[in-house]
Amino acid sequence: MIYLDNNATTAVAPEVRDAMAPFFCDEYFNPSSMYDAAKPVKHAVESARELIAQFLGASYTSELLFTSCATESLNAAIFGAIRANPERRHLITTAVEHPAVLEIGKELQREGFEVSFIGVDRQGNLNLGEFVRELRSDTLLVAIMHANNETGVVFPIERLSRVVKETDPSILFLCDATQSMTKIPIQLNGNFRNVDMLAFSGHKFHAPKGIGGLYLRRGTRCRTFLIGGHQELGRRGGTENVPYIIGMAKAVECAAGNHADDQKRIEYLRNKLENGIVQKISNVEVNGSGAERMPNTLNIAVHYIEGEGILYQLSALGICASSGSACTSGSLEPSHVLTAMGVPFTAKHGSVRFSLSRYTVESEIDFVLDKFPEIVARLRRLSPYWDQAANKPREPQHVVPNRTHSS
Ligand code: PLP
Repeated sequence: MIYLDNNATTAVAPEVRDAMAPFFCDEYFNPSSMYDAAKPVKHAVESARELIAQFLGASYTSELLFTSCATESLNAAIFGAIRANPERRHLITTAVEHPAVLEIGKELQREGFEVSFIGVDRQGNLNLGEFVRELRSDTLLVAIMHANNETGVVFPIERLSRVVKETDPSILFLCDATQSMTKIPIQLNGNFRNVDMLAFSGHKFHAPKGIGGLYLRRGTRCRTFLIGGHQELGRRGGTENVPYIIGMAKAVECAAGNHADDQKRIEYLRNKLENGIVQKISNVEVNGSGAERMPNTLNIAVHYIEGEGILYQLSALGICASSGSACTSGSLEPSHVLTAMGVPFTAKHGSVRFSLSRYTVESEIDFVLDKFPEIVARLRRLSPYWDQAANKPREPQHVVPNRTHSS
């Protein structure tokens, strides 16, 4: 199998599995228990917190809370901020967020909040003019992703958060760093010093699924969100998921240790894949190519065929890729991200996302490059948009009108 869907989830690293192992059957004690046996467990959890807090450049270890995933962290941050600041009822986010933020925005609109969804240009860059114009005296919160899960496009969080704080320091800035965590430098005392809250999920960087984090800068007005026991300084009740917390810290440690080498190698492989496909196949374009992108992501639009067809054929060869977000790929709707970018109909239905990790090797990329052109040629033979004889797109008058994606 060739796994190129690392933006959906990643394999647990062997070092992570080994670090977690003792905390299942041996050191299984509740970290809140008073007896001596539980003390090393409590200590291990606090060391894990310290390691991740330091990695992110947090000023205080207690600013980092453990959660079950990024979705929980984002819900906690947004609804916690609303509860703590009931007088403000306007939020800003973008049209290309992951559903974990986008759907909250839509739900809040139904509840009577005003939510501005800032658009992007054809390359996926945020419309900065629109962003600045939407900042208002009643704006409570800005919630913006660092890197897009579908295209890999990186938003300028340093600049956006600075503009927000210069406009009104009481507006809260939440960053969804789920895709960028460990891939792109984040320093909460440096480039992210104006970010108040930051969410991430361990399974995107070789920790298991079911563990995440929320950074809450000291003094941020955000109410307790999971009411229960006194865990996480009373801000998130529920017994800590000790093995997974230890695992996530180990994953951060591994990523930090090899960061520069890993990212350079991953980028080289991504570029090889990208350049190879662009050279071998006509009528393709790289979604987000003109913007700053994460080094591991390639979202490629193959005009005149359907992405689902490509994915099935790749899957038959043991290649795992995706047509966009794993959370929306069950639907036949075109990607909201590509729609917001204005990617034309004939391309957004034929877009495929490859996402690499430090376990991706060159022979896998070579295999995909060998097979991908055949797959595209086969599907184009079946496409009503493709003129087989001339080996080019059909003239528009021959195209079946109003053809839907599901037909
Ligand atoms: N935000 C982004 C950008 C994501 O890519 C994802 C998952 O793909 C999430 C949030 C939600 O992460 P989780 O499903 O781990 O809660």
